[in-house]
Amino acid sequence: MSDSLSTDVLIVGGGVAGLWLNARLRRLGYSTLLVDKGVLGGGQSVKSQGIIHGGTKYALSGALTGASEAIADMPRRWREALAGNGELDLSGVRLLSDAHYLWSPGTLTGNLTSFFASKAVRSRVGQVKGSELPPALQDSRFKGKVYRLSELVLDVPSLIQRLAELSGPGLLKAERIEPLRENSELTGLVVDGRSIRAQRIVLTAGAGNAELLNALGLAQPAMQKRPLHMVIVKAPTLKPLYAHCLGGGSKPRITVTSHAAEDGEWVWYLGGDLAEAGGVARDEAAQIAAAKKELAELVPWIDLSAAKWATLRIDRAEPAQSALARPDNAFLAEQGRLLVGWPTKLALSPDFADRVEGALVRDGIQPQPLAPLPELPRPAIARPFWEGLV
Ligand code: FAD
Repeated sequence: MSDSLSTDVLIVGGGVAGLWLNARLRRLGYSTLLVDKGVLGGGQSVKSQGIIHGGTKYALSGALTGASEAIADMPRRWREALAGNGELDLSGVRLLSDAHYLWSPGTLTGNLTSFFASKAVRSRVGQVKGSELPPALQDSRFKGKVYRLSELVLDVPSLIQRLAELSGPGLLKAERIEPLRENSELTGLVVDGRSIRAQRIVLTAGAGNAELLNALGLAQPAMQKRPLHMVIVKAPTLKPLYAHCLGGGSKPRITVTSHAAEDGEWVWYLGGDLAEAGGVARDEAAQIAAAKKELAELVPWIDLSAAKWATLRIDRAEPAQSALARPDNAFLAEQGRLLVGWPTKLALSPDFADRVEGALVRDGIQPQPLAPLPELPRPAIARPFWEGLV
């Protein structure tokens, strides 16, 4: 590859953040080129649980925090996009559930009583009973309480597919990324030997941002990784469930999402406290044993004797925070033409795009007339992670 290219905005990383941003910028008339070294969505995005949080679960730690406030508008923005009348046309993306549930397995302890009594939570949740309960909890032995949250759960592979369709011809698969400097200013990137000049360069490579910054000789912004050890269970007896099971602590005991496998069986994807530090310390067999124990306690009416189990280790990549605290918003740092960031949540991708768009507007970056792109090697799209695992 030797022909050089020019674009208004060069994006590195085709997870949900890069792809959403790419589609938004194209709608505004900017030319874009998005480079990915792997498969689109194949980092954290396709391994996420696809919950479009409105922030209510963060209120578990007490009064509403910054996280709850910043994220509160996201379900509305995603709903509009899914209906085809929002900032992007995401019609065709599969909605797995129109609601996410908070599920308390027994009587509410003091901590949870005050959580549900708080004004912020009362305005966001409604209790459901009987036939309104999620299918997996409709059993005479179920004794807990369930509250419906107006938060969506998306099929992330179909989201990535749709965002890739909205990318037009400007997707490029490439391995090697080096800085392109002219008069000691960063003016673009050399991508697998091909120079690409851009008015702005945005790094949205998730956990790959650290390596890219290193290649550009930059130490900031620093990145942190928070590891998770998720559990996957597939069984003919499973029915769909999208819920945080509350345990009384500041994190859900488990968070369950459900995904239809190609053979028609349901796969449950288990996160929450089970997948946090204690789970990270366990090896695969011990983690599966811990998950079996949790489900035997929480949903004993589901026969899992024919279930297949697997675990998945994956890091959340975010800007470094003191004491590994959870960042509140999408994060964007700027250095000249270079912008670097992490959405910190799939749900916050619109917030991330707002920040980049705000920086372009502030700097008076206008779309330039440019030659059409040649045919480029295109990255593939990630497959559902559970296929082939269970
Ligand atoms: P990624 O999805 O990681 O994408 C990065 C891309 O960059 C990849 O395609 C990769 O191939 C590419 N790349 C990497 N290095 C390079 C390089 N050197 N050159 C070129 N390309 C490169 N958030 C929610 O809102 N709701 C949830 O329910 C939720 N559940 C989650 C569950 C789990 C288990 C995890 C780990 C996270 C979850 N999150 C959730 C968080 C969410 O997944 C992430 O915040 C989001 O997907 C990050 O998107 P991204 O585009 O920044 O990164």
